[in-house]
Formats: sequence, C-alpha cells, structure tokens
Amino acid sequence: MTEDPPQTPLRADTRLAQVGRAGARAHGFVNPPLVRGSTVLHASCADRAAAGGHRLEQALVYGLLGTPTHFALEDAIAEIEGGTRCQIVSSGLAACTLPLMAYLKAGDHCLMPDSVYGPTRHFCDTVLAGLRITTTYYPPTLDPAALALMFRPTTRVLFLESPGSHTFEMQDVPGLAEAAHARGVKVLMDNTWGIHFFQPFAHGVDVSIQALTKYVGGHSDVLLGAITTRAEEDWERVRGTALAFGQYASPDDCWLALRGVRTLSVRLYHQMESGIRVARWFSERPEVQTVLHPALPGAPGHAIWQRDYTGACSLFGVVFQPDISAESMVAMIDALTLFGIGASWGGYESLALPTTGTIRRTASAPLAGPAARFHIGLEDPADLIADLTQAFSRLRRA
Ligand SMILES: *Cc1c(COP(=O)(O)O)cnc(C)c1O
Repeated sequence: MTEDPPQTPLRADTRLAQVGRAGARAHGFVNPPLVRGSTVLHASCADRAAAGGHRLEQALVYGLLGTPTHFALEDAIAEIEGGTRCQIVSSGLAACTLPLMAYLKAGDHCLMPDSVYGPTRHFCDTVLAGLRITTTYYPPTLDPAALALMFRPTTRVLFLESPGSHTFEMQDVPGLAEAAHARGVKVLMDNTWGIHFFQPFAHGVDVSIQALTKYVGGHSDVLLGAITTRAEEDWERVRGTALAFGQYASPDDCWLALRGVRTLSVRLYHQMESGIRVARWFSERPEVQTVLHPALPGAPGHAIWQRDYTGACSLFGVVFQPDISAESMVAMIDALTLFGIGASWGGYESLALPTTGTIRRTASAPLAGPAARFHIGLEDPADLIADLTQAFSRLRRA
C-alpha cells in the first residue's frame, strides 16, 4: 500500500480493470457477486429508515432501486463514458426513450437528427406525438449556425446520434451542443457507436446514452441500456424518471455486461483493426461507390472523426454503384457463409444487413445505390474477405 496517490491519472484500460470491483464485500473474490432480490431485510424499522436515504441515491432498500450488481455496472459505465452517474435500464431503446420523457412535456419541441436510430424515431412519431410533443428532424450534418435557426421558444431537447444509424453521418457534437446550450436546451446523445472512443461530456453532451447490448455485452446474449450524466441535476432528472416508470434491468444481464466491460477494450481495438481492413477492401472494389466508415481517410465525416474520436468500432456501411441491382446485392448477402444476417451489432461475430430504403425526411440521405451495413466480429479478417470475394460474384448490373 502506498500513501501517495498516483502521479498521473490511471489510463483507460487500467481503470476498466479496476472499476466496479467489490473489494472486501466479495469476501476476497475478484468479481462482485450476482445479487438477485426484491425485498431487503433490516434489523429494525430504524435501520430501514436509516438505509433508505434519498430515493435517488444507490440505496439498498428494495430491488427495484438497484442491487450491488446494478451499482457495480453503473460505476463501470460512468467510468467508460467519462460521466459521474449512470442509470441502467432494460434496453438500449429504453435508454433513448427515458431521457426524452425526463426532459419533455406537453407543448415542448424536440430536435432529432434525421439519421436517428429507427425505433427512437418511432417513439417520437407515436408516443411523443400523442403527448403533444413536437419533433423536427434536422439533417444530421447541419452546421451549428443553421441548426440555431431551428430552435423554437419551446425547444427543450437537442438529440444527437453520431455517426447516424445506417447512414453514418458524423455530427459536429461540440458545435451543435454549444448552439443548444446558448438557448438553454439539453443535449442528449446516443453514443453507442462511439463507446470507449468518444468522450461525450468533454464534447458538451449533458446526457449520454449507450445500448450496452452492443459492444459492452459483446456476445449477442444481453439486452441492456445505460444513461449517463455528469451534472447532479441531470442525474436526478434521469434517475427520478427511471424510478417513476418502474424501469428495471435483470441483475443477471448486468452481471454479464460487467463481465463484458473487462474485455471491452481488447475486443474493440481488435475489431477496429479488422473493420478498417475489411472496409478498405470494400473501398477498392469497383462495384462499391462509397464506404461509410468515418475512420477511413476520404470517407464522409472523416475530419470530424479525426478531431473528436480516439478510435472506431467495427460497424460501417457500404453503398454500391447505382447500376448494381438491389436484388443482386441481397443475393450477395445471402451467399455469405461467415456473416450472419440479422439486426444488432457489437458481438464477437460478423453480420450483414441490407439498409436500402432507410427512412429519411430531409434531403440528407447519401444512399445513391443499394446499400448494406456490415459488422466485423473477431473472425480472421482474411477469411471474411475471402467470403466477401466469393459472394461478390453474385453482384449484377441492373
Ligand atoms: C441497437 C441500438 C439501440 C437500441 O438498443 P437495444 O438494446 O437493442 O434496444 C439504440 N441506439 C443505437 C444506435 C443502436 O444501434
């Protein structure tokens, strides 16, 4: 044991190995135990009153308010995001919708990027619309001065998601956040793609959203979401709304996600490298018009990625030449043997999905030809490229 604190702050990978460990409470075992339960027993009524504290604190008084398993994961995610507090919720989608409910009420207005995750858009168009909360979709790459013209006196929330779902537009997060803060508007960001490589709070975000289902879970067997804040007032708002809705995540899933945290960085760096290698292969094929991978030099949004990100995950888009038939692109995906066809991403396995027809209301859609989304897993990229090479023989001119 040393008396002096370390001279330099611990680096990210070291903190990921340290955070959320139970220490003496786990009887010396490395990991915190999986705690399941509803009722928490107390020795006396006075003890129960003392344990309760503030409902918004991580108090051990009732399972719905969280268990040590939840709190360990919350500490870990707050650490990864560079925030102070985190609320675990039942899914990534719940992590998107719950802060919207926390900050918006009847008559309010909300700004959403046109490239937002589809189910978040659906929530705005159905639940928020039904509550008389208006949503305007803005082109995701709009510059801050142009966005400032879209604020109304009733605007309460600016939502960001960078890069955009399916179309991978990079947003100028610090610029847009500054424009919002000048109007007293809260900045919410879906930071699922940027996990570990983008520090939302250092770039002006107030509330950061993670679908832990993706790389934190990492094995395609957990559904979970996280909402992280830095300011105490935001934490109270988010936590208070989560409790009001009875939001709850299974401790089993939290325990699995915490296990995922320990290898997150290793997987991400490996998958980043493989992803860039496969993305480069795509970019060299004549059948491909554009590779939507922000980390590729020359790709749309690359300058913003270079300025704001320290790395990239392994999810990207591919736009084929306009004269490639959409049917043959689907046949190509069907012919892949190492890529699964399915939703989600962030697992250890590679996936492919057609994205042609993605909904856009503004003129921002960059998809001139048939398009697909690829997630690169932990397979050897040489095998993935060989698989893609054989499948590409299915591509045909329209
Ligand atoms: C998958 C995803 C979500 C939702 O996560 P679920 O856990 O599947 O509900 C939210 N945002 C983005 C950007 C996603 O890719």
